[in-house]
Amino acid sequence: MFVVPPLPANEAERLDFLLSCGILDTPQDERFGRLTRIASRVYEADVAFLSFVDDRYQWMKAITGDGIGSSIERERSVCQIMIASGEPLVFGDMQKEPKLDGHPVAPFLPFRFYAGVPLLTPAGAAVGSLCILKREPQDAEGFDLSTLIDLAAVSMDEVELWRLNQDLERAAQTDGLTSIANRRAFDQALERAIRRAHRTTEPLSLLLLDLDHFKALNDTAGHQAGDEVLRRFAGVLAQAARRPDDVAARYGGEEFALILPATDQMGALEVAQRLRENLAAAEIRHPRGIDGLVTVSIGAVTGDPAANISAEMLVSAADGRLYEAKRAGRNRVVGGSLP
Ligand code: GH3
Ligand code: MG
Ligand code: MG
Repeated sequence: MFVVPPLPANEAERLDFLLSCGILDTPQDERFGRLTRIASRVYEADVAFLSFVDDRYQWMKAITGDGIGSSIERERSVCQIMIASGEPLVFGDMQKEPKLDGHPVAPFLPFRFYAGVPLLTPAGAAVGSLCILKREPQDAEGFDLSTLIDLAAVSMDEVELWRLNQDLERAAQTDGLTSIANRRAFDQALERAIRRAHRTTEPLSLLLLDLDHFKALNDTAGHQAGDEVLRRFAGVLAQAARRPDDVAARYGGEEFALILPATDQMGALEVAQRLRENLAAAEIRHPRGIDGLVTVSIGAVTGDPAANISAEMLVSAADGRLYEAKRAGRNRVVGGSLP
């Protein structure tokens, strides 16, 4: 009789690992596809698949052959047995297997033979499976799992590479001092936002921000105090970026930027104003600042996607307005639409 197995003792570690890899919900991938092809060939299987199992679903990362879907609820899967046990599993004939009697799916599949091995983390948590299926039953006794076991280990090496790549990608996009997006990430995000604006015909706004009298702060309080102010300002900026698609970035030195997709001129000025208020409320000391506090000048620009806007146009217009804000006495916002 089939019984849904209990959650493994390391369920939390399993899910943490999968989350840290960022591999769920990503498309099927050739790096895993070639492993299921090898498995299918070596075992002369009708289907080979590689899957990851999160708290609710089994996601197929690669499938060779026809007859199974790209995901299934965890409690309806066969592989959940391996997730619970961490051990390989072979069924000579799923339709006659007492352990699968009453299983919601297995007896109705067009496959009879099942052999699988769990994908194990270095700590031994089963996060997925590599399996083969055959339409005809086959003797389970003495079935040689060694190739599947080797391929599962190679799969987990691929997962580790995936995770390291993701970490590298994140580091390459992050400013080391403030932990917000760096210039490189800003450039990419602005290009993305412009493409989106052209596609949706929504207005796109950009704020460029430059801290006031920052050189004097370094000169009087020291470079390290200056760095600390940059960190605190980045925090205020990131808080002002409220929508998930807003991007707060360190543009360079003590200059920052805020990309505001789907935001018109009024909205951009509102965000800029809120940011100045939040900065005032943060009361970051500046010995030679306006009223003894760190202040910022902001150039805001809104692009109408109907006019063929580009990143250069937006940045240069925002920069011009930032310069005007400085000239008009600092600690203010100058905004407007292009040109
Ligand atoms: P203004 O109000 O006209 O902007 O005056 P300002 O002194 O801020 O002038 P400017 O924007 O030209 O100053 C840039 C200064 O920012 C120069 C440099 O010493 C400082 N700076 C740039 N990057 C860093 C950094 O990473 N750490 C620190 N502590 N200071 C930096
Ligand atoms: Mg500057
Ligand atoms: Mg400055």
